[in-house]
Order: sequence, then structure tokens, then C-alpha cells
Amino acid sequence: MRRIPLTLLLLAVSGCVFTMTTPVVDPPPPAVVEVWYGGEHALPTPLGGGWCWIDGPHPHEFFPDPIDAYAFADGFYYWRAPVVFTYYGGHPMPGGGWCPIGAPHRHDYFPPYGSGFAWRGSGWAYGGAWTASRPPPPGWWNWAPPRPPPPAAVRPPAPAQYRPPPPPLRKPAPQPRPHDDDGRPPTPTATPRPLAQPTAPAATKPTTRPATPAAKPTETRKDDKKNDPATPKGRDKKEADPSRKQVD
Ligand SMILES: [Zn+2]
Ligand SMILES: [Zn+2]
Repeated sequence: MRRIPLTLLLLAVSGCVFTMTTPVVDPPPPAVVEVWYGGEHALPTPLGGGWCWIDGPHPHEFFPDPIDAYAFADGFYYWRAPVVFTYYGGHPMPGGGWCPIGAPHRHDYFPPYGSGFAWRGSGWAYGGAWTASRPPPPGWWNWAPPRPPPPAAVRPPAPAQYRPPPPPLRKPAPQPRPHDDDGRPPTPTATPRPLAQPTAPAATKPTTRPATPAAKPTETRKDDKKNDPATPKGRDKKEADPSRKQVD
């Protein structure tokens, strides 16, 4: 009985307004957000805009915006709105060729990921290797719209009512591969041919681990006499070297 007045006093001091009969109707959005998307989608303009090329299930820490551009099924948001993007200046076109429009203009497609297009906050600008005088061939860019939502998709719930997919469905799709990996344009004359793979000389073993101390580097060390060349061996036989015990 003595604690009740204190509790009421604390509630009053904290500014907490409540009545015994009124339930909380408008809770704040969930604090921890893992929102799953079912495929490619536009990125919310308030977050910078652009396009997300992940072609399959993947989570984000933000809800769709605008939410009407999406459909919903099994905990996944699916992009369903038409694709419309602004382009700044000339650029390669789907199916080959070059769009010569210099002023900002719109198209109903998004560029391939990793193809030389850069997002400039409200549109795309092309800075890749193709030019008006050297446009890409027809096969360089075959645009396809994002896959439509599944037939069972419905109007998405409000963020407060969102429930993520069941755990077995939360398998993130792989990250998109840069477009130029498989459709590499011919580089301009000034730039040498890019090396897609690191050079691996046949004489050297392409081991991922650091080189084993097969040869003692005693001859290369001129000043470092304090380091005993036996130190690299310590990795091979730790128990034989008492000085290594403190490390492990
Ligand atoms: Zn995404
Ligand atoms: Zn254009």
C-alpha cells in the first residue's frame, strides 16, 4: 500500500498519459526492421533512390516507399509498379545503339548493374566505355522488366503490420554480377585490355595461404638479426618451441 502513491507519482513525473480503459492504438514502427523483398525493386527516394538488382529474396532495413508500388506475399514485398527512370545525357540503349538525347529525359527501363551507369540522386548518367560513335552491339544489353509478383500476392500491409517470411523462406539470393562480366565492351584505345583474372604464373603455386617457409630468408635480411630465422618454423611445431606458448 505504501508503494502505490510512489508509482502514481513516477507516472505523473514521467509525463506518461494513460487511462485504464483506453488501449494503445497507434504503436510506433518496429524498432528492429528486417524487411524482405522478393526481387528487384526501386530504392526509396528518401534513402537516395536508384535500383536494387538482387533478383530474389533478400532483406533490407527499410520498408517499401511508396508502398503502393509493391505487392505482398508470404512476407515478401514485390515490385509491381512500372519502371520509369531519368537519364542524364546519352547512353547505351537496350537492344544496342546509343540514345543521343543530351537533356534529362525518361525511359521505362533501368540500366544493367555494373555497366557504367551511375546513379546521380535522381537519375542515371552513363560513364562507361561505349560512346555515340561506338555504340554497343544489340546483345550487350537485353533489358527485361522485373519479374511480376506471384499470382497470390495482395496489397501490402502497413509497416506496423508487417510480418517477415517464415524462416525456411529467408534464403537471400546472391548479389548481382556486374553486367560487364559477361558483356565486356571493347575498351577505348587509351586503355589497355582489363584483366578479369589475377595473373597466376605457372611456376608459382596459387596457394591462398602465405608462402610456407620452405626457403630460409636468411640471405635477404641484412639488419634484422634479432629475428631468429627459426621463427617461421614455430608454426609447424608449436609444442617444440616453448616461446610460443604464451601466444596460444
Ligand atoms: Zn533490394
Ligand atoms: Zn535516353
